[in-house]
Formats: sequence, C-alpha cells, structure tokens
Amino acid sequence: MLITNCRIITWENPNRVLSGWSVRVENDLISEVSPERELIQKYPAEDRLDAHGQILMPGLVCAHTHFYGAFSRGMALHGDAPADFPAILKQLWWPLDQSLTKEDIYYSAMVLLIDAIKHGTTTVFDHHASPQYITGSLDIIEKALFDTGIRGNICYEVTDRGGLEKADEGIAENKRMITKLANQPDGSLVTASFGLHASLTLSAQTLEKSSKSIPSGTGFHVHVAEHQSDEFDSLKKSQLRVVDRLHQYGITGNHSIFVHGVHLDPKEAQIISETKTWLTHQPRSNMNNAVGMGDVEGYLRLGIPVCIGNDGFSFTMWDEWRTCYLAHKLWKRDPRSMPGDKVIQMGIYNNARMATHFFKANIGVVTPGAKADLILVDYQPITELTEGNLPWHILFGFRDSMVTMTMVNGKVLMKDRHLLLDEVKISTEAARLSKEVWSRYSKQF
Ligand SMILES: [Zn+2]
Repeated sequence: MLITNCRIITWENPNRVLSGWSVRVENDLISEVSPERELIQKYPAEDRLDAHGQILMPGLVCAHTHFYGAFSRGMALHGDAPADFPAILKQLWWPLDQSLTKEDIYYSAMVLLIDAIKHGTTTVFDHHASPQYITGSLDIIEKALFDTGIRGNICYEVTDRGGLEKADEGIAENKRMITKLANQPDGSLVTASFGLHASLTLSAQTLEKSSKSIPSGTGFHVHVAEHQSDEFDSLKKSQLRVVDRLHQYGITGNHSIFVHGVHLDPKEAQIISETKTWLTHQPRSNMNNAVGMGDVEGYLRLGIPVCIGNDGFSFTMWDEWRTCYLAHKLWKRDPRSMPGDKVIQMGIYNNARMATHFFKANIGVVTPGAKADLILVDYQPITELTEGNLPWHILFGFRDSMVTMTMVNGKVLMKDRHLLLDEVKISTEAARLSKEVWSRYSKQF
C-alpha cells in the first residue's frame, strides 16, 4: 500500500519533515520512504491510501498504564476524600482491583484499547492487578490486545498485600506468560515483563522469590518512590532506600522499567542511570495524587532514559506531554523549565527506544524496515512548521482528536475516524459490568 498526499514527520534523529513524499507499507513493515512521484511510477498498480494533506507520523507509545483502572471512571469514592497517596490506594485502587472478575478484566482492557486506537497510541506497557482472578489474567489481556490489534507489553503486579499464596500466584502468572511468549518471533504484537507492585507492598521473601523466578532475558516493571511512604517503608524494612533495595535483588537493569521515581535521592538516580534501567514519568497521575514531581530534567542529565506513560489516564498522549511541559514550570516556578525539546526527547525518542527494546523491532520511526505503526493527524499549520519548531506545534496545536487513521503492524485499525470494532457495543457491555464492579467495591467498606 502507498500512503500518498501527506506531510511526513519521520521522527528519525535528526528529525525530517517531508512534503511531497510518500510511504510504502508492505505487510507489517514500512518498505520505502521516497518522493511520491517516484513511488507512484515504481508501483502504479499498488493500493493507495490518500491522506488528503494530513500529517503522517509514527503512532504514539505509552510507557506505563493500567487497564484495570477503567471502571474507576465516574466512580464515587467511599468515605472522606483521601488525604494522601497511601489513602488513595486503600480507598480506591485496592478495593477496585479486588472487585474485578474475568469478564471485567477483558472489558476494562478493551475500552481503554479503543481509547488508544482513537487517539493514535499504538504501543502500550500495561501493569495489571486482579487479586480475585490472577492465574490466566494475562491471557485475557493478551486476547484483548489481539482483538484490538494494539501492540502491548504485559505483566501482573505481584504484591504481599493479599498474603503469601496470592503473591506466589502472581509470581507464577508472570513466569507462565513470559515462558509462553519466549519463543515467538522478534517484533510480535505482545511481549511480557515481570510485574511487581511497589517496594512498600513487597517483603524480602517475595522479592527474593521473584528475582529467582524471572526467566533470563526479561526484566521487571515496578512502581518506584511514587510517594515518600515508599522510601520510609523501605528504610524501615531494610535500612535501604527503595532503589538500593530493589538493586540488591537484581531488579534494576536495561530490561526493567521503574515507574515514577518522584522521591529518588541522587544516589538512587545514579543507580538507575548506571544500570540503564528505564524510568517512566506520568505527570497527570503525579498531580492527581499530589505526590510531587521528580527532578526529571536532572534524571535526563544523568543519562536516564526517561519515558512518558499515562498511569491509567486517557490515551491522549499529547495531553500527557502538555501536562509535563506545564507542570514542571509551575513546580519549579521557572518558565525555562522543561522546554518542548525535552518533552519530545522523552515522549518520542525515549519511548520509541523503549518500544524497540521490548518488542525487538524498529518502532516509532518512519524509515524503511521499521514497523508500520502509523497515524494520520488532521493538523493544518497556521504558521511555518519545521523540524526545529515542531515540538511547540505539537504542544500548542495538536489535539488527540485530530487523529483520523491508526495503523499497527500494517493493519488499519481506524480509518477516517471509523473504528473496525463496534465501540458502542463494547462500551455498553463495559457500562453494564461496571455497575456490578461498583457494587462489589462498595461492599468492602
Ligand atoms: Zn502505575
């Protein structure tokens, strides 16, 4: 297929903005990027997708999310408003994940994956919890990824909060899924990591077991120092700070993803940098939970590959970028903080590197041989648009609703804003299930 009549943003490094060029997609890959006239001459009989002057660019990557949080939308919390992050866990997330059945797991993933397609997010890293249905839960999420066609890395968040037996079941579920997917070809749609909730709900015994159970060549996906309580708890349990504690069990490394890192001290940041561990930043979640902001610019200066996730917020990744751009300015009370190119460094380049690493395929760039994960954006610039000023066009001009076409692995999942899936049917079923989830949630108080 040839995608014609578009302006291409390649997100190569350095980036190129190409007018009058065209992309050829062959099976799951981008096979050629050349001037349009040449490609049409070379392939006169090829199917064409006319972009009508829209922008063609790689699909977006979300480096950390939770499908299981879908049914929190519009839900009334029980009791007084939570005063801090540990209270939010106890009043919202833990009773909510306790309420999920097998069916709820599938539909919570489906509705958020539809959200991803509609807003041009083509690769996601999910962190799943459903203590009442652990064994087999990752197969359900894998199925939702196949049913929607979105690329996903999945894991189960192991925790001791439900006792030893449930912790062991979580360990086994991670191990089972990693082993199941171990021999698939590079570039497959679904891959797996080993999920851990956070240091504050993990005993030495469970960390030890997890570190011994993980198949080689894979890594962990874990919340790190999201709130001060994680650090206090770790110091109390082990006389070590969170990153030092996890490092002791070999949980750091370039196959592992650390999430948040809001309260890292300089030594912890140095360990993350030296071990080449990925770190993800979710400013909307940090603001919502009022946990503070990590020194993200400092982490980048240390060479930490900081990526951007949504932590269960909507898959409107440009909203997450904009929040990043604005939040750090306010947090530091300095408009020079977090310039647009740093947001792009994380949201585009680091996220693409992370996806490329975890899926063993070139992802997040328009170049021959890269995965055909592409979107069309209906953005008509009202001022000159160049490689140099593109970050600010995106931060101030792009809206996620401008995404009109989403393609993953060469397969069109949405065209002219029409989804292949029946969104109304899936949302209606999710809404029916959510009432039962909310009722099970309320019974726990
Ligand atoms: Zn999270």
